[in-house]
Amino acid sequence: MADNKRDYYEVLGVSRNATDEELKKVYRQLARQYHPDLHPDDPTAEEKFKEITEAYEVLSNKEKREMYDQYGHAAFENGGMGANMGGFSDVSEILESIFGGMGGMFGGSRAQAANAPRRGADIQSSVTIDFMEACNGKKHTMTVNRMETCPDCHGSGAAGGADSEICKECQGRGSVKSMQRTPFGMISSSKTCPHCGGKGKVIKNPCQKCRGVGRVRMPKDVTVDIPAGIDDGMTLRVGGRGDAGVNGGPSGDLLLTVGVKPHPVFMREGYDIHCDIPITYSQAVLGDEIVVPTIDGNVKYRINEGTQNNTTFRLRGKGVKRLQRNDRGDQYVKVYVEVPKGLNKKQKELLMQLEESLESKNYAKREGFFKKLKDMLGGKD
Ligand SMILES: [Zn+2]
Ligand SMILES: [Zn+2]
Repeated sequence: MADNKRDYYEVLGVSRNATDEELKKVYRQLARQYHPDLHPDDPTAEEKFKEITEAYEVLSNKEKREMYDQYGHAAFENGGMGANMGGFSDVSEILESIFGGMGGMFGGSRAQAANAPRRGADIQSSVTIDFMEACNGKKHTMTVNRMETCPDCHGSGAAGGADSEICKECQGRGSVKSMQRTPFGMISSSKTCPHCGGKGKVIKNPCQKCRGVGRVRMPKDVTVDIPAGIDDGMTLRVGGRGDAGVNGGPSGDLLLTVGVKPHPVFMREGYDIHCDIPITYSQAVLGDEIVVPTIDGNVKYRINEGTQNNTTFRLRGKGVKRLQRNDRGDQYVKVYVEVPKGLNKKQKELLMQLEESLESKNYAKREGFFKKLKDMLGGKD
């Protein structure tokens, strides 16, 4: 346990010889930043708040701080020397002063939070589309299971549209005060009213369909415009298509992750498209007009006489449309020579005749290579 705990000084971001004044100042700042009432839906804020409060409670107390400096966290573990040590801490005082006393942030906020409009949660979903659909964009209709405002009670949670009643337990505040005994003294805090769950209202006769919640999860068809240019693994945020909000709050978003199937001929890299095309030996030697597939359809391209193997050429603007822009990437076409196989005797003879007729000037690279080799081996020819 002690191993996972962060150093108290580190938690507060102060030096080991920080004064009481500095500690207090830093704690006030951090408490203001991480107080759970300010982050009702963020559990990490609550963790963080607990962590800084614990660190401050120890370091702001002279004896505890001495114990901690000497023994570290072990001083306060079960059975540790400082475990049952009392002592004054001004945590609750500081918090009251930051968030106001009765009825301020610290007092009544949970009741407000429970009744306040809250945004619905985001929904995650995914879809796989074809390569060409990703290039051209697509309207995609899908069914998502989202929380909707209950159609029977229109969100009130009460059957037959009856009104809800003020909770008697908390008189509609949604929270009840309690005194808590802690090793650091009595701390007054308010907790969510257990009777009404913090809503401040109770429903006498709950709606059957939503069991009083006011929202039900139900299938809903959603049409999403998948934009041209989307790439494999991107996630679209579709505003307002997530769960319905609570107490009139806005809906969450639909997060749609898009997978794109590979294409048999095209390979995508960012907004550029790569494509390898086999050509014949004669086409490479003599040059030719070849047909090049693009995402707009076939185009003709003239390859030069003496085109080498793996020569790449670029077709400007034939790539994929860029998201949120009007221009497009490029297409890179690589031609490679397919060496013919299974030639018959006659064909082989013809090729031999051709080969014999060729001179070293026809093979510039070959000539260059053997020259280098000779130089390397003896420096003479
Ligand atoms: Zn209902
Ligand atoms: Zn209540």
